[in-house]
Amino acid sequence: MESLKDDCLFCKIIQGKIPCKKVYENETVFAFLDINPIAVGHTLVIPKYHAAQCHEVPEDYMAGIGKALSVVAKAVGAKNYNILQNNGSIAHQAVFHVHFHIIPKDAKQGLGIQWPATNPSGDELEKTAEEIKSRI
Ligand code: AMP
Ligand code: ZN
Repeated sequence: MESLKDDCLFCKIIQGKIPCKKVYENETVFAFLDINPIAVGHTLVIPKYHAAQCHEVPEDYMAGIGKALSVVAKAVGAKNYNILQNNGSIAHQAVFHVHFHIIPKDAKQGLGIQWPATNPSGDELEKTAEEIKSRI
């Protein structure tokens, strides 16, 4: 496949060159169990397109990811769960092929989150929104 890279772990998994526990696949998306799960059922959903970060994935592949997250999350079957996607090493990314984690959560297992909320003024929020809108 042209959109995959020879030297990428997850591209190799997509191509069957490295084994995995596959749970779902279609034309644009592949899903398999995380090899070091933080909860039973911890699953990774990835595009069949090599890109390190989310914003580099073409929109049609991202649309496929959105649909697959719904399909696979239903099948994982957790009542409570997190969907996590890390971009860049400082944001805890370790494998540089875009992947979405589906992580069941209960009292004993799953994701722990630090959420350092701030309290900007309305003007500050407005300025940030304008900056983002100007780049769309
Ligand atoms: P991240 O920190 O978001 O880049 O997460 C990378 C994830 O990939 C980790 O949860 C790893 O356990 C997982 N992982 C690494 N190698 C493999 C592999 N060969 N098969 C399945 N999952 C893997
Ligand atoms: Zn790749």
